[in-house]
Amino acid sequence: MTEFVIIGGGVYGAGVAWWLAERGADVRLLEAKQIGNGASAGPGRRGTRANGRDWRELPLMKLAHEMWPSLHERLGVPQFFERLGHLLLIECARDLQMAEARCLLQNQHGTETHMLPQGQVREREPEVCDDIIAALYCPLDGVSDHTAVTNAFAAAARKAGVVISENTPVQSIETDGGRASAVITGSGERIEVGKSLFVLSNAGVQGMLQDRISLPIWNRAFQVMLTEPLAHMPINHLIGHLSRTLAIKEEAGNRLMISGGYPGIWDPVTETGTAIESSMQANLADTVAVYSSLEGVGIELADADHLESVAVDDIPVIDLVPGTDNAIYATAWSGHGWAIAPSVTQMLADWGMSGKRPEHLVPFSHERFSA
Ligand SMILES: Cc1cc2nc3c(=O)[nH]c(=O)nc-3n(C[C@H](O)[C@H](O)[C@H](O)COP(=O)(O)OP(=O)(O)OC[C@H]3O[C@@H](n4cnc5c(N)ncnc54)[C@H](O)[C@@H]3O)c2cc1C
Repeated sequence: MTEFVIIGGGVYGAGVAWWLAERGADVRLLEAKQIGNGASAGPGRRGTRANGRDWRELPLMKLAHEMWPSLHERLGVPQFFERLGHLLLIECARDLQMAEARCLLQNQHGTETHMLPQGQVREREPEVCDDIIAALYCPLDGVSDHTAVTNAFAAAARKAGVVISENTPVQSIETDGGRASAVITGSGERIEVGKSLFVLSNAGVQGMLQDRISLPIWNRAFQVMLTEPLAHMPINHLIGHLSRTLAIKEEAGNRLMISGGYPGIWDPVTETGTAIESSMQANLADTVAVYSSLEGVGIELADADHLESVAVDDIPVIDLVPGTDNAIYATAWSGHGWAIAPSVTQMLADWGMSGKRPEHLVPFSHERFSA
């Protein structure tokens, strides 16, 4: 019997495994493929931002902001986080009052945010187009190397004694007397759960729990593009846009990553994603509308091979598996689960150990969808 069993080896599974093992727990992590092949993998870096988040995630992000700069030291690896600040660009006058309100809300939640007028935006981003009339600025935001973080969590977890079984898909969960008692793997192995089970398989959670719960969530293959090396770097911050589907970040070799939420196409049979031309063109048009110097930029890579789960209200669902008091699932990160991973993985581990749901996770329960 294993005290804690975790399904899924992305940043959430690996992170929870490490937080548990660090406190001396007996943990086994079961990953269908390899560590870090899902949404926690892929080219470039991930935006680590509070700016523009749903207010219910702001307390999680406040804690994550405190953790990101030194997390690498705890995991014993080189720095994987860079604090660049995030600019949420504003192009439409009708968005100004809403942005002021958001600025107030973010500050009230302890996320330092400034409303910058056009002149100050241009001082920070000299190449941004004249149509940008203001921006919300969060100095504590940045970017982090998702592959390095996920691998570091897994390596530290292993070092702390976690047994990580790759190529081990979980087929089903057994329950007994109101608790998850075991999981059955694809090869028929039955692994008993001593204390808690974590279902952290992201895009696989709904399928795994389909006999127990129907969640208003779906899966999306978010598409990202990596440019060819540029003659010079046109941006100085992590860039977002209040009314365009756009995120731009600097990448190695003087490249840019251009993304923001345009979809690719997912093939559920081969479990692979393909970038689509219309998404690429729309994403590039938004980019050029904001940084005209990027007109005609060459694209080296377009990737849509990493499936993410999304909820109708754009925030995660984190709750107990119905009919159990010891199986916790977390899914529907809605394209922005990365930045909050340090704090949320710690809270999930706390919950599994104590049996008590952390207060900050209450807003993400399935109950919010109840009629
Ligand atoms: C292209 C892209 C860009 C993103 N950009 C940002 C960003 O800039 N900022 C941000 O905050 N967030 C971003 N995100 C979101 C963030 O990366 C994800 O929310 C986060 O990585 C989810 O981690 P996870 O561990 O839950 O899921 P995953 O990394 O998907 O891990 C789940 C794992 O479960 C495994 N699994 C599935 N089924 C089973 C089974 N039956 N048995 C065993 N294992 C199973 C899978 O193989 C997979 O390895 C982005 C996501 C994508 C895809």
